[in-house]
Amino acid sequence: MDAPTLPISPAGRSDLTHHLHPYTQLRQLEREGPLVIVRGDGVNVFDEHGNGYIEGMAGLWCASLGFSEKRLADAAYRQMTTLPYYHSFSGKVPGPVAALVDKLIEWAPVPMGRVLFANSGSEANDTAFKLVRYYNNARGRPLKKKIIARNKGYHGVTMAAASLSGLPMMHQHFDLPLPDVVRVSCPHFYQFGLPGETEAQFVDRLAQELEDTIQREGPETVAAFIAEPVQGAGGVVVPPAGYFAKVQAILKKHDILLIADEVITGFGRLGQPFGTQVFDLKPDMITVAKMLTSAYVPMSALYVSDQIYQAVADASAAVGVFGHGYTYSGHPLACAVALETLRIYEDDRIVDHVREVAPRLQDGLRKFASHPLVGQARGLGLIGALELAADPAQRKPFEPARGVGAYFVRRAQAHGLIVRVLGGDIIAFSPPLVITEAEIDAMLARTELALADTWEWVRTWR
Ligand code: PMP
Repeated sequence: MDAPTLPISPAGRSDLTHHLHPYTQLRQLEREGPLVIVRGDGVNVFDEHGNGYIEGMAGLWCASLGFSEKRLADAAYRQMTTLPYYHSFSGKVPGPVAALVDKLIEWAPVPMGRVLFANSGSEANDTAFKLVRYYNNARGRPLKKKIIARNKGYHGVTMAAASLSGLPMMHQHFDLPLPDVVRVSCPHFYQFGLPGETEAQFVDRLAQELEDTIQREGPETVAAFIAEPVQGAGGVVVPPAGYFAKVQAILKKHDILLIADEVITGFGRLGQPFGTQVFDLKPDMITVAKMLTSAYVPMSALYVSDQIYQAVADASAAVGVFGHGYTYSGHPLACAVALETLRIYEDDRIVDHVREVAPRLQDGLRKFASHPLVGQARGLGLIGALELAADPAQRKPFEPARGVGAYFVRRAQAHGLIVRVLGGDIIAFSPPLVITEAEIDAMLARTELALADTWEWVRTWR
């Protein structure tokens, strides 16, 4: 790892002293200090020294409208000065919720009955976990509680959402996962396809594994299957053709609910409003967050089918009230910003824009596929990845301790591009949806510089 490139400022110093950073190599941060970001403009952010960066990840796959959308600031201000807070408990509701639920039902990729609000993707998935229980208890099937989740899935960090997630570091030292979570394989053919296996055979093998897993657990105990249409934090995994069709046929056979985690893919990332449309999913619940508000304020939502809603409503009548809800479920500020975000998506035809500019990103990334550091370039819409490899022909990864992906990210940053490394030296790209072709070109040019630097460095030690 090379030396820090920027001096540590007073703001950075305070941060180092008192802030416990999420998802950070803590000891390394103590040595090097944080990058303090102070301002945003379009797809760019600026650090406290005035250096600009293209935000190639839209923050954490979320700032869809970039970092200076005035309509959202205005909507927030109007709401803050009209009704800054109210709740939705005990028969009350803040005004802006009504317009938002209508709009969300309009956007729903399959018919949905109700929308329940939370503040983060984790909470939305946690709520889905709870509703799976509530629903099956309501239907008199108290044994049907297990949820199947996939290796390398990412569903958040609360106790339940982290349990559903399939990344080891999210479980180690936390005594997770909770019971009732059953794991199956990740559909990443590049990494997990067997020698000589075709993609179609790989899909068949995973489908058989799912069927066998359900049989082993007992179909009467398996309640739901949760999946991101394209796995994000687990490595930007686009499933092979036919994967979801086979999975859904098995779920249907055993009366198992499908929960689509569209926290990254919801609202246009893949060039369709939802991943559900891309992969022809028939989910019973959908979780959304992130781009719901363009990340300007925290908000998430859980769509549930009418069938689930009816069962929950009946069962809750028997116990008095539906015993779930957050102080900030449907917070008016978040509602106002979410509603304005969805209006901007419509006014600016943002999903069409993604479809128009996506080839520029996807073709550009695939041009790097022949680079000696790149094992695979992949993606869909405005999400993509370069999976770095020690031996691309053999799909052999680098030793994790070498930190090749982390080195790349630092070099990219030095060239004015923020991207993120995921486990396995996978470089992720997920820019704001408003990005232009010229900005995509700039992002790719900076990527090329960082690849060249990384290649030069790798050659010094091997
Ligand atoms: N699901 C997916 C697919 C995600 O990518 C994330 C966050 N990266 C979450 C859930 C959790 O969202 P949050 O961080 O808002 O809790």
